[in-house]
Amino acid sequence: MHKYLDFLRNEERHILELIRQLVEIESPTSDKQQTGCLAVKLREVFEQYTGGKAEIVGNKQNGNYLRGHFGNGMEQILIVGHFDTVHPIGTLKRNPFKIIDGKAFGPGIYDMKCGIVQAIFALAAIKKIGVYLNKKVICFFNSDEETGSAGSRQFLMEEAARSKYAFVMEPSFGEQGAIKIGRKGVGTYNLTVKGKAAHAGNCPEEGVNAIEEICRQVLYLQSLNDYPKGISVNCGIITGGSAKNAVPDHASLIIDVRASRLTDSEILHKLISNLTPVNPLTQLRVEGGFTRPPMEKTAASQRLYIMAADLMNKHCGLSLPEAVVGGASDGNNIAALVPTLDGLGAVGTGAHSLNEQIYIDHLVPRTALLAALLEYC
Ligand SMILES: [Zn+2]
Repeated sequence: MHKYLDFLRNEERHILELIRQLVEIESPTSDKQQTGCLAVKLREVFEQYTGGKAEIVGNKQNGNYLRGHFGNGMEQILIVGHFDTVHPIGTLKRNPFKIIDGKAFGPGIYDMKCGIVQAIFALAAIKKIGVYLNKKVICFFNSDEETGSAGSRQFLMEEAARSKYAFVMEPSFGEQGAIKIGRKGVGTYNLTVKGKAAHAGNCPEEGVNAIEEICRQVLYLQSLNDYPKGISVNCGIITGGSAKNAVPDHASLIIDVRASRLTDSEILHKLISNLTPVNPLTQLRVEGGFTRPPMEKTAASQRLYIMAADLMNKHCGLSLPEAVVGGASDGNNIAALVPTLDGLGAVGTGAHSLNEQIYIDHLVPRTALLAALLEYC
């Protein structure tokens, strides 16, 4: 790993310069033109720095994706990242790229343009130093991750199924840059209740109150929470009724559901899909499901994590903790298909906020770590 650290220390300002260039092309998920521009830019820099080949993967709905090819061999390693951000156009004016006290700021810098640059420079280091990997590395960078990867999921899963290991360049967790070894699965459900309208003054007894029913359902759903087990059920948005003096004949609810374990996500899905009315005169309709399954720690991903933590400790004197987090990423979509380490990207803070920042002194060690993992795994 020392050869990578030595090489990359001399490249630090080039790494930062490329991060600046990517941050300054704003790329909210919904902006097809901007994400498309960034895909073209990424193809150019991927080929320029790594000597590999990259192709744009077209996507009708949102912006295009990028698939980079590096090296040759029977085995394939997958590197995953996204270059869309949650920040609308104009955020760059409010949080321009700047460096202050060892921190670099900008929209999407932490989540996760820095991680993409780290991947490109890890491959550049391998190429420039002349290490022969005897395996193929595929980089798949999408531009719809922040809205759930609807268009890119299939591509990612196909590449994952062909790969021996996958490295996700999402930001790390916490001040020490923990690796994300597990992520909760995420589901969204819509519950609608149909009751019967009636005049609240003249004939309330003829009505069936949909709001009353949905409140009973909320109490049941909230009772499913089991935080120590990693289960959360959040009744987040509730609407209903049309007038103060009318018995409401409709009410609806949006529920965010998360689970650390696949078996729990399946149980929750059954329970929520089969909700039954407390008041038999109401009708319930439930739509939705888990859009991202839980990313569970496996024996193989644990081995990979231990390799990473040892490398970091031995060569950089840095500890590399592990964490299980509630937020989902493309790691959730692929972890069942391939041993996956997530959160290998930037160390910093402020994801999805105007305070988004990375800690510059972690740039070189983490980029070197990825290069070393690619060589030794
Ligand atoms: Zn992200």
